[in-house]
Amino acid sequence: FAPWQDPDEKPLIQFRNVTKKFGDFTAIANLDLDIYAREFFALLGPSGCGKTTLMRMLAGFEMPTSGKILLGGEDIAAVPPNKRPVNMMFQSYALFPHLSVWENVAFGLRREGRDKGEIETRVADMIRLTRLEKFARRKPHQLSGGQRQRVALARSLAKAPKLLLLDEPLGALDRKLREETQFELMDIQEKTGTTFVIVTHDQEEAMTVASRVAVMDEGKLVQVSTPDQIYEAPTSVYVADFIGAVNIIEGKANQTGDKVLVNWAEGQSPLIATTTAMLQKDQTCYLAIRPEKIAISAERPEAANVIEGEILDIGYLGNISTYHVKLPSGHIIKAQSANTRRIARRSFTWEDKVWLSWSDTAAILLER
Ligand code: ATP
Repeated sequence: FAPWQDPDEKPLIQFRNVTKKFGDFTAIANLDLDIYAREFFALLGPSGCGKTTLMRMLAGFEMPTSGKILLGGEDIAAVPPNKRPVNMMFQSYALFPHLSVWENVAFGLRREGRDKGEIETRVADMIRLTRLEKFARRKPHQLSGGQRQRVALARSLAKAPKLLLLDEPLGALDRKLREETQFELMDIQEKTGTTFVIVTHDQEEAMTVASRVAVMDEGKLVQVSTPDQIYEAPTSVYVADFIGAVNIIEGKANQTGDKVLVNWAEGQSPLIATTTAMLQKDQTCYLAIRPEKIAISAERPEAANVIEGEILDIGYLGNISTYHVKLPSGHIIKAQSANTRRIARRSFTWEDKVWLSWSDTAAILLER
């Protein structure tokens, strides 16, 4: 059982009908959310959707305008930030430039007046955990960006918080280092068992590191689920569209039931999709189809959904190619195919007539 599926597990954090207003502006609206101990939880959404505000309320830097936040079942409204078992790692890392790596990591423990022996052991553990043994005596300016990021992480874990908040922690790193660091973060989260809540606007990052992802839009949670569910079974056009490239085709439900026929363009056969949405006849609906679920071929194939089109654009990405295919209806569909040797030998070029096809279960039918 993952913690959020275990019926006996109580959530570590509970947001109960939380609203946060800044003057007249509602940044968070009537939000309910449970986060469990040991989770790596991601808050994902575009700029301004309220991710940081949610995090700052957990840290205690902002108070909800109404509603409650419980930690371990207790309302934390009256608990000041420094008394919460919560730590926040900022994007800027905020390291002390005049202190060594070791002293930076020890800082919080010293300020709390912890026992000298305990500090030594704890700092050594954190330095080992973040693989900083060789750099313990250096000052922050003598470190690379990735190393500084690890010092910030070691420092924020030193006091063994129950909850670590990470605000765009990898924003300052280049792509390659970012990917490596994502795996390091996952490893450290697992080793320490600390609950991590990460804020990011990068869907790939959220999907890589997190055990569950909350997708936000204008102060609301639109879907909270595991990464594979968010990807495979988005519940709205917004989520489908936000998570990676997706083709959205608007149409009207024709035959309803679990297999729906969708009329989508004059003179074209309806598309077939399976859905759990309760659609009325003639209701406007949206088919969401991932590019990698669409097969592209030179001959007309046998499939539930087949459309003819013409290649408009090709993007070569090494192991895969992305094709933009223009349909007679004017729609432009993205299709992706793996560049195996077999396909590479007979790959397509601009203005080729091709057939796009997909199965009835490949498309997700959404109401809006
Ligand atoms: P980003 O990814 O850009 O950091 P975000 O999703 O973290 O965005 P928040 O920082 O939570 O967004 O802000 C949510 C909304 O609340 C924004 O529209 C922002 O302008 C507004 N807001 C945040 N803090 C304040 C404040 N102190 N006073 C007024 N408005 C604020």
